[in-house]
Amino acid sequence: MQTPNILIVEDETRLADILEDYLKREGFRTERAKDGQRALELWRTARPDMVLLDLMLPVLDGFEVARRIRAESAVPIIMLTARDEEVDKLLGLGLGADDYVVKPYSPREVVARIKAVLRRASGQLVAPEVYKVGELEVDMGRFEVRCGADLIDLTTSELRLLAVLAKDPGMVRARSELLAASGDGERYADERTVDAHVKNLRKKLQGCGAKLETVRGVGYRLRA
Ligand code: CA
Repeated sequence: MQTPNILIVEDETRLADILEDYLKREGFRTERAKDGQRALELWRTARPDMVLLDLMLPVLDGFEVARRIRAESAVPIIMLTARDEEVDKLLGLGLGADDYVVKPYSPREVVARIKAVLRRASGQLVAPEVYKVGELEVDMGRFEVRCGADLIDLTTSELRLLAVLAKDPGMVRARSELLAASGDGERYADERTVDAHVKNLRKKLQGCGAKLETVRGVGYRLRA
């Protein structure tokens, strides 16, 4: 396995320095972000294997960063919190953090948690959720769609909608169900949004050996 790359999101430079030094000595690669916005940018470009996430951050706080990362990925997240009350909030929100460490912490403790979480996560990777239909592969572990070896550029809504169809090829899915799955339901309460996504998907998936069929008056299905 390649050396794990850890994204450290921490606005206190001194703490970030200590963590980074320690992680490097333990053989990890690291990326650093000082605020939530930069954290999301680095998350998208560097695709780290784990995120160490401070909760109180400028621009976007750690809660929001975790929520947005979780909308796209199951990457392990360890929260760094300053107070026990934050832990209660963290658990209450169900953001899907894999672990948390309360400050002040020893870097050694953090590294032990990182190793434990990475071990658990690599166990989960044995059974990644990848749906295959024809040449099409919907990879929910990486949140990617591929046509053979080519990566297909989809919006998050398109990908979510496609995943529901690809999970059970041939099964008809109602437009209302697809609208809910796309995550657009809160913004547009209109099933025609689904039709628009399907139209785009048909264009993007051309030549992939997977056909998005309309079932009149009901919804859509995906077939090889
Ligand atoms: Ca902070």
